[in-house]
Amino acid sequence: MAELQLRSVEKVYGGGFKAVHGIDLDVAEGEFMVLVGPSGCAKSTTLRMIAGLESITAGEIRIGERVVNELVPGKRGIAMVFQNYALYPHMKVTRNLSFGLKLRREPKARIAAATARVSGLLEIEELLDRLPKQLSGGQAQRVAVGRALIKSPEVFLFDEPLSNLDAKLRAAMRVRITDLHKRLKDEGRPATVVYVTHDQVEAMTMGDRICVMKDGRIMQVADPATLYERPANAFVAGFIGMPEMNLVPAVLTRDGDVPSLTLDGQTIRVDGLGHRLSAGEGPVIMGIRPQHLAACAPGEPDALTGEIVTVEFMGHEVNLHVRLGEETLVAVAPTEVLRARPLRGDRIGLRPDGRRLHVFDTTSEANVSLAPND
Ligand code: ADP
Ligand code: MG
Repeated sequence: MAELQLRSVEKVYGGGFKAVHGIDLDVAEGEFMVLVGPSGCAKSTTLRMIAGLESITAGEIRIGERVVNELVPGKRGIAMVFQNYALYPHMKVTRNLSFGLKLRREPKARIAAATARVSGLLEIEELLDRLPKQLSGGQAQRVAVGRALIKSPEVFLFDEPLSNLDAKLRAAMRVRITDLHKRLKDEGRPATVVYVTHDQVEAMTMGDRICVMKDGRIMQVADPATLYERPANAFVAGFIGMPEMNLVPAVLTRDGDVPSLTLDGQTIRVDGLGHRLSAGEGPVIMGIRPQHLAACAPGEPDALTGEIVTVEFMGHEVNLHVRLGEETLVAVAPTEVLRARPLRGDRIGLRPDGRRLHVFDTTSEANVSLAPND
């Protein structure tokens, strides 16, 4: 296993379209790195450049000690798992697993031992005599992972490997893949992984670190807790977390120790924000997660009052959509609040948890409420 480095990597496609704008990324040996972002942000392009399936317009890619820019895929020490499994349809599972080693002319006994080990790790022993068309989606994906694993690559590359599976199977495979990564580490064969997904839940649950991308640029690279608690900008703040963070225009005033925010003509003082602010007064974007807005009576001081326009019943909790002038804020409340009151058309107060409130610059969208040692 090896570390992976991208230095100022660019991709301009044939038609002149710049898909990747000079990105830098370091993946440590044995690290599980997730590339996440909306469709079209160049996740696959980046992964395919690492794999050597796509040329690099500028920059440098290193795997371990080697610059691999000019190496063909087969010489890079990588193995890739795709969304559509890409198993050889006419070969049984055993041969699908062992084919890569056969091509490398590994001794028969070694191939047999590796096949046994990998099929045990992925619990596919029962499937060895089947053809791909006799496998369910989840089984086929396990075989595809096994086929990558058996090659003992320097770096594993996954491109949306779970996107074709239904929600339940996807959740199970998520755990299986992260367990496998941990097992390999425990066995002393740590696997360096770059895993592409558009699904923030997959990213948050699987990644040691996550690289959030947008339009061919990196927005932030951090561990899941840091991304959630200290998003570097409004894009990351809105992309990570469910329901999405509320991001609304507001005006910041800093009269005294406790700053205030004004939106929809309502001004609230926000405790726990002042010492974090690196912004002056003026228009900003206020960011607050639905989980960090507490419902209270309308008209309470330092809470925002609005009208409930939608109540989404989620089971253990409800999502309240509350209109304040032009904006709608979403708040997550315990289901018990339904017994007390909220109905469509009712007025309600929402009090932000000031320690969890974010402020973003309207132009750069950078988070200007991150004290360095907060
Ligand atoms: P993602 O995997 O994040 O959905 P892709 O890497 O597939 O994104 O694509 C990134 C951008 O590059 C998109 O705008 C896409 O249309 C464009 N693109 C992808 N492949 C090609 C290609 N072969 N030629 C031209 N443009 C491409
Ligand atoms: Mg893609």
